[in-house]
Amino acid sequence: MIFKPNNPLGANIVCFTTSVIGGVSDGPYDSLNLGAHVGDDKNNVNANRRILKSILFKELEALKSVEKPLSLGGCHFKWLNQEHTINHQLYESAKFDSNLPCDSISTMSINNPLVVMTADCMPIVISSTSGRISAIHAGWKGLLSNVIGSTLKYYPKNENLNAWIGPSICQKHFEITHEILHLFDDYSDFITQLNNNKFVVDLVGIAKRQLSSFGIKSIEASHICTYCNQHCFSHRRATHQNIHNTGRMATVVVRAN
Ligand SMILES: [Zn+2]
Repeated sequence: MIFKPNNPLGANIVCFTTSVIGGVSDGPYDSLNLGAHVGDDKNNVNANRRILKSILFKELEALKSVEKPLSLGGCHFKWLNQEHTINHQLYESAKFDSNLPCDSISTMSINNPLVVMTADCMPIVISSTSGRISAIHAGWKGLLSNVIGSTLKYYPKNENLNAWIGPSICQKHFEITHEILHLFDDYSDFITQLNNNKFVVDLVGIAKRQLSSFGIKSIEASHICTYCNQHCFSHRRATHQNIHNTGRMATVVVRAN
């Protein structure tokens, strides 16, 4: 089971987010955990990452316009050291460093699959007519420090871009306390106060406004909430259930041909 945009991000582009289903991990990682940094058994994560490749391969094969699908052997994910930064790396750069804290990745080449991991944060995928594609890991910290802008600055001005916001936590379930409310001063339209002096934030709304401010007209947001949907890993749901670990879903985008 995977989640996909309703509207294609462009010709020959495959894009999806994985669910919890189809992997080999157990316990809080049951079953398709793709995060190697969350306490899961390394062998299981490696097996799940091989399963991810076969999911990608099937999606590429289903694209009738693709003449030569990326082979499994030629498929190489570059996993990011995600730390809620605004750092960006280019997949094909000789300087690419998987140890650097980094939350955004782009490529200008075909057959370079981009991947980010999430479990409530927003996976945001960008595509352009020039061929450049990007994948962004955006939580509230990344949004407020402009991880979207730090990715979009590499796109030529006046280019037509498409954006997809994958499964992420809904407003009802993203509660913040009074202590950090002031950080959202520029986004008061997206905050609702609850009776208990807590506040809920529409992070997808904030992301959409930011994407629009860069001139992106084609923006689709998934209606899947990771907290509400049991087929998703949710860090916050696990915490509320006193489960101290949880798995990570992967959002993948690749341009073939
Ligand atoms: Zn929800």
